[in-house]
This record gives sequence, C-alpha cells and structure tokens, in this order.
Amino acid sequence: MTAYDAIIIGTGQAGPALARRIAGLGMQVAIIERGRFGGTCINTGCTPTKTMVASAYAAHVARRGADYGFSAGDVKVDMKRVKARKDHVVGLSNRGVEQSLKNLENCRVCEGHARFVSPREVQAGDQVLTSERIFINVGARAAVPDIPGLDQVDYLTSSSMMDIDFLPRHLLVLGGSYIGLEFGQMYRRFGSEVSIVELGPRLILREDEDVSAAVTDILTREGTTVLRSAKCLRINKQGDDIVMTVDCDGTSELRGSHLLVATGRRPNTDDLGLDRAGVERDERGYIVVDDELRTSVPGIWALRDCNGKGAFTHTSWNDYEIVAANLFDGESRRVTDRIAAYALYIDPPLGRVGMTEADVRKIGRPALIGKLAMEDVSRAFEKGETEGFMKILVDADTKQILGASFLGTSGDEAIHCVLDVMYAKAPYTLLKRAMHIHPTVAEFIPTMLDDLVPLPGSVAG
Ligand SMILES: Cc1cc2nc3c(=O)[nH]c(=O)nc-3n(C[C@H](O)[C@H](O)[C@H](O)COP(=O)(O)OP(=O)(O)OC[C@H]3O[C@@H](n4cnc5c(N)ncnc54)[C@H](O)[C@@H]3O)c2cc1C
Repeated sequence: MTAYDAIIIGTGQAGPALARRIAGLGMQVAIIERGRFGGTCINTGCTPTKTMVASAYAAHVARRGADYGFSAGDVKVDMKRVKARKDHVVGLSNRGVEQSLKNLENCRVCEGHARFVSPREVQAGDQVLTSERIFINVGARAAVPDIPGLDQVDYLTSSSMMDIDFLPRHLLVLGGSYIGLEFGQMYRRFGSEVSIVELGPRLILREDEDVSAAVTDILTREGTTVLRSAKCLRINKQGDDIVMTVDCDGTSELRGSHLLVATGRRPNTDDLGLDRAGVERDERGYIVVDDELRTSVPGIWALRDCNGKGAFTHTSWNDYEIVAANLFDGESRRVTDRIAAYALYIDPPLGRVGMTEADVRKIGRPALIGKLAMEDVSRAFEKGETEGFMKILVDADTKQILGASFLGTSGDEAIHCVLDVMYAKAPYTLLKRAMHIHPTVAEFIPTMLDDLVPLPGSVAG
C-alpha cells in the first residue's frame, strides 16, 4: 500500500488543476484516470462540439453567400474532414492534460478504474493507495431512458457521436434540451434531415417561454422538425431505418437512419465503492456535498458533475477553486456564492446568467424588465445575424440585476458585462454609465436599461 498526501479520482476539469496545486505545495499526490485524460469537456463535451459547431457555422454562412455578395456554389460537407479537424483540436488538449500530469513533479499518475476500499483507501488496478484526503472528480455519462425497443437498436449518445465520420441521412434526436439542440442544428447544417422529439411542452424547458419559442423558430426555419409534448413510446428497427413510435396529439411514426439519445446525464458514482467508504449519495446517484464540497465522510470531497451542483466546465473549475482556496489559502468560499451562468451553443448562441423571468416571479419581489430585439442592434444588422433578443431583469428596489438572457450573435460573450456587475453587487445604473465600444452587441446593454418596465406578474407588475 502506498500513502499519499492526496488522491484524486478522475482527470475532468477540477482534478488536474487540483493535482497541480497540491503538487506545487510540495505534497505527494496520486491522480487516477480510467479513460481519456481531460474527461468529458475535452474529449466528448465542450471542445469537440464547439469545434464541430464552428464547421457547421462555416457551411451555413457559405450557403448564405448570396446575402453577403459571393457565391460558394453547392456547399457539401465532408464529414471525414470535419471529424479530422475535431480530432486534431481534441488531441491537442487531451495530450496536453496527459503530458502535464505525467511530467508533474510530486504527482503519480495511475491508469485504471478506481474504487474505494475504505474511507482512506482506493484501489486502482492491482494497487491500493491510501490518503487522508481524497477528491472525487468522476463526472457523468449519458443517461439512457427505459424505452421499449431502445436496447435493440444501435443508438448514439453524445459520446459515440464523436466517432462518426459520415452524414446520417436522417438523424432522430430524442431530447430537446441543450445537448440535443446543439447536435440537432449542427447536423442539419452539415446536411442531414433532423427531427427533434421533446417530451415537454417546449424545447429547453428550463428557459423562459419566449426563449424557447425563439430557439424553436431558429431551428425550424433551417428545416429541422421539432415535435413537442411528444412521448416516445417504442423504438424498433425496420430494414435500415430506426422507427420511433411517438404519442403527440395521437400516435404517429417517425422514421430515421440514426438515433441520438440526448435525455440527460447520470453521475459515474455507481461503481466507485462509495458504500465501502460510507459516502452518501442522493436518490439520483449524485454524491451529497455541503456548500464547501465536503461529502458525508470527513477527508473526502466531491467535485463537479458527480455532485449535481452544476454541470459545466466553468463550474468544475470553480469547484476546484473553492476546495483549493478553503484548504490551502485559509478562505471560506462556497458554492452558493456563485451566480448561475452558462450558454447554449446553437447559432446564434444563448448566454444566460442568474434568474429567468419565471424565477423572478417566484421570489415575489417588485422587478423590472428590459428587452431588445437583435434586429435593433446595429452590430447584428451589419453582420446579417439578426435573430433573437436580449433581456435583462432588475430588482426594482435594490436596482441590482437579477438575471439576463441574451439570445443572439455574440450573446455568449456580451452577457459577461452583466455577470460582472452582478458579482460586484453593483446597481444596474453602473452599466448605464459605462462607455462601451461601437459597434458591438454589448454597447446596446445600456440602451436596453434605459427602457425598463415593470415585469408583468412580479409584485410590481
Ligand atoms: C456534448 C456535451 C457538450 C458540453 N458542452 C459544454 C459547454 O459548452 N460548456 C460547458 O461548460 N460544459 C459543457 N459540457 C459539460 C462539461 O463537459 C462537464 O460539465 C465538464 O467536463 C465537467 O466534468 P467533470 O469535471 O465533472 O468530470 P469529467 O470531465 O466528466 O471527467 C471525469 C473523469 O473521471 C474519469 N473517471 C470516472 N470514473 C472513474 C473511476 N472510477 N476511476 C478512474 N477514473 C474515473 C472519467 O474517465 C473522466 O475522465 C458538455 C457536456 C457534453 C456531454
């Protein structure tokens, strides 16, 4: 048995940063990885999808050449080259993480599946490692629903989508949330027929209704079929086709060549020996943690997707910062200090911070809203990308910003102006005084704030 100052299980977004920090302090750390270094973000998540979204965007703009004054002829996408580009970008990051860990002084890298043997011992392959501090960063994987016939067809998940180098004739996407929409639009732009089947009454149900409606319009205008309130009853194979029987205003059949299952994620906590360590999980399998990411067992922490407190790369990095600051810098940072922020990378992207309109109505405070169509933003107009809108919600009493949704070109970037003011806990009027650069999307944020009105349905509305 080998003793370490710290053991880290998983090389997702938090694990490697923590290993570097601990090793840099002169302590001995062991980090265990059973799959590809860098975890989901680098190998099957953010990096490959955004690289492929860029290819899809380029094809889309080329097809719109006439709008910009050029002709690109008949645009055909070569999926082998799209995949090769994606593999190149992924490979750079994946090898970067692997090499940086393997070259790190005071760090031992173990390759294999890790399981707890006791609260202080972890088995990796044929070795048992021991430490007083163990950090779990094992991530999550695609959740596959229990639908009759699904196990009889070769369905795809967000991970196996990364291996295909051909164009599906007709991609059926089960699940109209963030991952399903990114793949759906991307493959439509590559040239597939795409049908998205969503159980809920609208796409991206967590967002406000106007956001869902605008996103649905964007996708359908490009030729994607969107079925809402559609329950997939059964799946079966007929010849080369996959046939989905759907209950949507009556029963109908949807026929495609390939099926992507994008119905959520589940944590990789089921084969980790957590019972032997005494680490508590909730009913969905997420490791229960407190506001500082400590599990039910002293000396064991759980970071990111396996703890259910956010499922993003930036929240993983933030988890690392919280744990490292509290352990090594004498700080008292908490998960609840952070403000929800994320993006949906369809084109145009949706940038989101803080509360939605629905959230604001629930807190029962007087609130104001400002909204601006992207058609009225000169930068969007100049780029020929006028779909979407920006909206911002403000507490009428404190003048602090409660949340914002920017669906439009550069919405994922411009929203950071709002996020930073929220972190500063400054009133929205600060943004009205800031001089922004022309022509940008961000320059219209002060304009939007000039025209705030009471939010209908809030206490003042
Ligand atoms: C298609 C897709 C697109 C996404 N796009 C975005 C995006 O644009 N922006 C964003 O912020 N987030 C995005 N995400 C989410 C983001 O990828 C994750 O939230 C992020 O990677 C954080 O993961 P993590 O740190 O929890 O662990 P992960 O990155 O999942 O890493 C966990 C690691 O642990 C290893 N492991 C698991 N169990 C064991 C074990 N028992 N022993 C040893 N090793 C083990 C795994 O092999 C893996 O390498 C996307 C996700 C998907 C699926």
